[in-house]
Amino acid sequence: MVICSVCDTKNDEYATICTKCGGFLQNRVANLDLFDTLWQTIENPRKAFRMIALAEHKNYALFLYVLSGISITFLGFWYFRLGERFESVPYTIVWALLTGAPLGAVLCPVVSFFHWILLRAAGGKSTFRISMGVTSYSLMPIIISLVLLLPIELMTFGMYIFTFNPHPYAVKPLSYVILFGLNALLIIWTFLLVIIGTKTAGQINTFKSILIAAMLYMILIGGFLYCGTYLY
Ligand SMILES: [Zn+2]
Repeated sequence: MVICSVCDTKNDEYATICTKCGGFLQNRVANLDLFDTLWQTIENPRKAFRMIALAEHKNYALFLYVLSGISITFLGFWYFRLGERFESVPYTIVWALLTGAPLGAVLCPVVSFFHWILLRAAGGKSTFRISMGVTSYSLMPIIISLVLLLPIELMTFGMYIFTFNPHPYAVKPLSYVILFGLNALLIIWTFLLVIIGTKTAGQINTFKSILIAAMLYMILIGGFLYCGTYLY
């Protein structure tokens, strides 16, 4: 919490004006700069999530979710080996964009809502918008997977990255293991960011933050597997 220097009233951690005397507490952050904030989540995640909680506008939240939706769709094509259904790489990319973008747009309010509800249930101090800001910027590693790893995967394996026969491991084992490992690390990194973001913005302890992140992941992975078996 922040204590007012004028009247000693205890204010919320992210209040900019004292609730009692209206005195100045801390600078307000009007907008989030996309690249600054993303970079900050790498360099100093706690500081980044503080800024995200303080920001009046949670800029780019929907945009980050849309990119993540596309990334998750590619991961789905890869995980469920849906390559046999598509004729070529460009065709697969078009499909991933067409399904991934709306998926991200839907996940944005749904995941933010669940995060907010779980955080409130745990005694945290989130609003829907803070939850949206925290979860969207936590997705940064998933977006790295799309922007940096996917082009390498497509260049190395072409369509084989999505196919079962041949399996990409059989085509180039070492490259496959490295890319698979990097993707796994990025997913773990996202998980850690959700924990740090939940703890920082929601003002709750580490244990509760881990529980909330784990529950969100279970809901998402459950949904992912459900959609996958449905598509099969
Ligand atoms: Zn005051």
